Amino acid sequence: MKYIITLFISLSFLFKASPQNPEEVVKSIFDNALTDNTAEEHLLYLCKNTKGRIPGSQQALHAVRYTMNALIEAGADTVWLQEVPVPHWERGNELAVLKSRLGALELTISALGLSVGTGPGGIDAKLIEVHDFKQLTEIGTGRIKDKIVFFNRPVDNTIINTFSGYAGAVDQRVSGASEAAKFGAMAVIVRSPTQAMHDFVHTGVVRYKEDIPRIPAVCLSPNDANLLSRWLKEDKEAVLHLVSDCKNYPDTISFNVIGEITGYEKPGEYITVGGHLDAWDISEGAHDDGGGCVQSIETIRLFHELEVKPRRSIRAVMFMNEEMTSTGGQVYADEAGKRGEIHYAALESDRGVMSPLGFGFGNADDERLEELFQLAKYFEPYGIRYFARGGGGSDISPLRRFNTLQIGYIPDSQRYFWFHHSANDTFEQVNIREMQMGSAAIASLIYLIDLYDL
Ligand SMILES: [Zn+2]
Repeated sequence: MKYIITLFISLSFLFKASPQNPEEVVKSIFDNALTDNTAEEHLLYLCKNTKGRIPGSQQALHAVRYTMNALIEAGADTVWLQEVPVPHWERGNELAVLKSRLGALELTISALGLSVGTGPGGIDAKLIEVHDFKQLTEIGTGRIKDKIVFFNRPVDNTIINTFSGYAGAVDQRVSGASEAAKFGAMAVIVRSPTQAMHDFVHTGVVRYKEDIPRIPAVCLSPNDANLLSRWLKEDKEAVLHLVSDCKNYPDTISFNVIGEITGYEKPGEYITVGGHLDAWDISEGAHDDGGGCVQSIETIRLFHELEVKPRRSIRAVMFMNEEMTSTGGQVYADEAGKRGEIHYAALESDRGVMSPLGFGFGNADDERLEELFQLAKYFEPYGIRYFARGGGGSDISPLRRFNTLQIGYIPDSQRYFWFHHSANDTFEQVNIREMQMGSAAIASLIYLIDLYDL
């Protein structure tokens, strides 16, 4: 009798684990994601109530509390916070006025994250426009010293992959300050790295090199970058009055937020799905990356609500501090190592939440890739066809040390850099249906990888 009861329990468990065939499970995931409005409510809350949730801010802690509750409500069986050391930097008053013989021109600027400030009184200096670091070196110390260097190389719009285009211009923002300081520059003003032509400023982090003086770094809207360039051609002696009264404070503590559904067969093996909870202080962080966080919470909600029982443990992670020093991803991997966890696969959504194209797979051998590509047939009915080699994301990349499969969620990115790191990245710029096509695609992929041991 005891044997029969045990058998009955295990059979019913199996039955519950896979009540339908995989195509039907995937369809039920898409049906639910496209008709339920929990995700929209979460994104709206994060955008409007935790706007400007830069690492080290109260808004970021507000977002931590909110998403912790959201994961509990989504049906995670375990939810916890993981302490993360983060920088504490605050923007101050900002003003940039070009004083030239043509008159005064006020420019739309934004300090770069972690930049040193000019002090409240600002600085006044002549400008020198440069295209790249090679030209900067050719011009050399004589003409750079005591000037403000204006980096004005636009993103190459002929590059179809917008992330590659961005990557080709972002060195000015990230490293321009130290490169210019080598030649005695007083500050740098950088054209925003974006394919868009508009008045929004796209900020981001600046990284200073050791042993080189730290100088203030700000970025400039693309329209104003063109304007400034034209004015400088008319008057090379024009002087920029630049105020950027930002400040760096000692590091502080924030948190990764983690919610888990424990696997019924291999609870010690993990599949992580995540986005980053922090966002730039001038932004609502809708596409970057509130949407990715919401899609991760949705993965938990969809598994729970549709009673899709995962064999392995599924973890949704809201990583903290991706934008400044990426400590959230480091801490998550370090803790995984200490606990001896087996990280089977990890997926990151941090490329905006426009319509899904598919997925990129990294850290997998040819055989595993071949098997993963076979999954494409489940996504055909949803118009999701991109299954390619190479992918991941900055928060999950520290898991590579455990040989974890890296998966990057790939939406159509043609509009992404209209929003990225700017005040234009608002809730209103997200098409909820597109975001939810992504949520469903992500949850379905994780379900299939777990089901088929891929
Ligand atoms: Zn991001």
